[in-house]
Amino acid sequence: MRVLMVASEAVPFAKTGGLADVAGALPTALARLGCDVTLVMPAYREVFSKGLPIKPTGMTLEVPVGQRRATVHVLESRLPGSDVTVYLIANDACFDRPNLYGAGQDYPDNAERFILFSRGAMELAGRLAHPFDIIHCHDWQAGLVPIYRRTLYADWPAIARSKTIQTIHNMAYQGTFWHWDMLLTGLDWKYFNWQQMEFYGQLNFLKTGLVFADAVSTVSPTYAREIIEPPGGCGLEGVLAGRPDSVTGIVNGIDASSWNPRTDRHIPRPYGEEDFADGKYAARVALAARLGHAAPDPRPLVAFVGRLVSQKGVNLVLELIGRMAGNHEGGRARFLVLGTGDGEIEHALQRAAATFPESVDVVIGFDEGLAHLVQAASDIMLVPSLYEPCGLTQLYALAYGTIPVVRATGGLADTVVDTTPDTVRDGVASGFVFEPFDSLALEQALDRALEAHSDRDGWAAMVRRVMRQDWSWDHAAREYLSLYRATVAQL
Ligand code: ADP
Repeated sequence: MRVLMVASEAVPFAKTGGLADVAGALPTALARLGCDVTLVMPAYREVFSKGLPIKPTGMTLEVPVGQRRATVHVLESRLPGSDVTVYLIANDACFDRPNLYGAGQDYPDNAERFILFSRGAMELAGRLAHPFDIIHCHDWQAGLVPIYRRTLYADWPAIARSKTIQTIHNMAYQGTFWHWDMLLTGLDWKYFNWQQMEFYGQLNFLKTGLVFADAVSTVSPTYAREIIEPPGGCGLEGVLAGRPDSVTGIVNGIDASSWNPRTDRHIPRPYGEEDFADGKYAARVALAARLGHAAPDPRPLVAFVGRLVSQKGVNLVLELIGRMAGNHEGGRARFLVLGTGDGEIEHALQRAAATFPESVDVVIGFDEGLAHLVQAASDIMLVPSLYEPCGLTQLYALAYGTIPVVRATGGLADTVVDTTPDTVRDGVASGFVFEPFDSLALEQALDRALEAHSDRDGWAAMVRRVMRQDWSWDHAAREYLSLYRATVAQL
């Protein structure tokens, strides 16, 4: 199976979110299953800052973008630890910039930038020696690839028989642009209609991908069901409902080479399920020192790590902290929030930390190493998202023996099993799940978790059980391979 992965970011080259983790890890896992995978992404300024070996291929493409032809130099690298070739689409005017998509606001020419990227990927694929069976497109940035494959590039021998798959990592980001950008695509205006590329008068890249791809997938089965109706579909629910096939939901894996408590270089004493108590205690001591505390707090440590935006339910965490740390209940737990995002939320959290210093720590910033230490040191991880396509934080928590308290949505609902007498008896309980999006429901779930935590043996058994779960990419890669096979077999 020959696969071309078209993604706008991939670890370790460039990252703004979970897409980069997927695009960086899935190709390697597929290669282990015998697939021949190639990845193509833009050559942003960031990719040259990582010390990765990148060399020119000597290949130059003249990519039509509207009336002009943009020159693209194709560079080449490899995903570390694999044979996966990475082609980088270099065009300085479009990609030699400080950020991937914009600073604060989106770059005004993002339509042009990702038209160039998508068409560049097709021009490149069309020139490679071996045809691809599958072209796997990620998010709106690659959303025009399926229509290019069916129209302007339909007759190119190397891709004429390729099938396309569009994967949605977050339905809220669709790549919508003013209609005149249609001129830059090189596509016939006849496609600019409400059933294909148009969305309320605008050009919509993700919609285009969903309409023209041979198959559509997203990053968890529950999210796959949520996006075929409002509000999860963000206006595109009708497009998905109109497709002949259903959306396939495949839960992301976690990259065990970086998120593994047995080998993690960010924690003082790596640990497994047999010695988790020692490993977590050492992490707790290191974290206390990092936060400027004389000694670790003996109370359970309840953490939140993530983007400080409303999607993540951080407002519920703020209300919860205000209530629990503000009354005598504050004695029951210590809270730690690590994140960056919305300025108002950041300030509100900092005020909470200043008001309740004996119970609340807040670290504003993006700090990969600290995120690892917090996962290792904590007892309980809060993930109260409004919606969550897959979510990685709860998966890392499980791997590190930190029990997640999650809202029943998207990938959270698919990866965490609530603790009830039945699930405990069956040995499958892995966390605490609540439904209503409000801080009282979150508090009740946390209460249940704290109650369970007070039973030392029961808690230790749960920690060992969740640490044994397998969230590696191998499992997800097998599901993608089945999707590829089914898509290739389509008429
Ligand atoms: P999303 O992609 O919506 O941000 P995910 O849960 O899929 O959510 O992935 C979030 C990733 O970003 C996790 O790896 C998490 O550890 C990391 N992360 C989020 N905020 C921070 C932060 N402030 N510092 C370090 N890592 C962070």
